Amino acid sequence: MEAEVSREAVHALPKAELHVHLETSLRLRRLAEELHAPSLTEPYLVSDPKRHFGYDRLRRLRYLGRAGKVPDSLYTHRNVARITYELLREAAEDHVRYVEVRVGGRRGFALLGIRGMLEAMAEGRARAEEEFGIRCGFLVTLVRERGPEHALEVAEIAASCAECGVVGLDLAGDEENFPPALFARACEVAREAGLGITVHAGEFSGPASVWTAIYQLGATRIGHGFRAVEDPELVAYLRDHRITLEICPTSNVRLGLVQNWKDHPVRALFDAGVRVTLNSDDPLLLRTNLTSEMYLAARELGFTLDELRTMVRYAAEGAFDPRAATEALAVAAG
Ligand SMILES: [Zn+2]
Repeated sequence: MEAEVSREAVHALPKAELHVHLETSLRLRRLAEELHAPSLTEPYLVSDPKRHFGYDRLRRLRYLGRAGKVPDSLYTHRNVARITYELLREAAEDHVRYVEVRVGGRRGFALLGIRGMLEAMAEGRARAEEEFGIRCGFLVTLVRERGPEHALEVAEIAASCAECGVVGLDLAGDEENFPPALFARACEVAREAGLGITVHAGEFSGPASVWTAIYQLGATRIGHGFRAVEDPELVAYLRDHRITLEICPTSNVRLGLVQNWKDHPVRALFDAGVRVTLNSDDPLLLRTNLTSEMYLAARELGFTLDELRTMVRYAAEGAFDPRAATEALAVAAG
């Protein structure tokens, strides 16, 4: 009988994370409250989870978490650098050695420009890498609802921002109404520039969305993707083609997509040989971090410490800067 995995052991484990959103507004809101208005109550106020479901619930969670609380004036180079630094400091405290941070917020892009946002993030990253030895790459998120022309524009800028630390492109948003084919050209531009492609799929929609993300967009990683479990052929394909799934169990449970941890298909997918990784998705909004995700996976789904290490290795190998990920983890181990 395997010894029970403790939270301390999981915390101490050098880790890698592939799916975390900067979520500028919520981090900026926290910053605003720290700096200017500590009296704002319940900073992480969220909607009644029983009233909304799936993507609609996600939108409401995000909206209510920040509505009207973050003035445009907070979107400065300095503040964006600072929240990036804080995200990385919190990750480093959690013994995350390599992390890919994604950014796609409409207001930040509009107010600072896409390149301006990335340059500010790069400054926060440089400071955190130097202080904590953590390594970090950026992913630029295309939001489906903003349409294919906007996506192409964002992809072109992302493709020209390698010096800011961009390593990949992410597609997120309304899976049902904005099918992947609309974004094929944007993904092609990114791929040609050497960026990795990850697509939010198999979360609100079923296995078909994962198939199309792979076939039409050339995704080598899938954000969430847990609904692949509904299609045995897809499970075999993911395993054989070494596609990495960025699984975020707390997010799925909080959005009502999976009833509870014990029902989460991450165990079945791992046992089937699929390269699953654990991730926090949106740690401030969901009040989680990578240690929590891994500890709950151990406690609720029986993952051993060795299996958790295997998932960290999958994350390093699936990283869009695998060399940085492997080096950072090797330094931590050595
Ligand atoms: Zn996500």
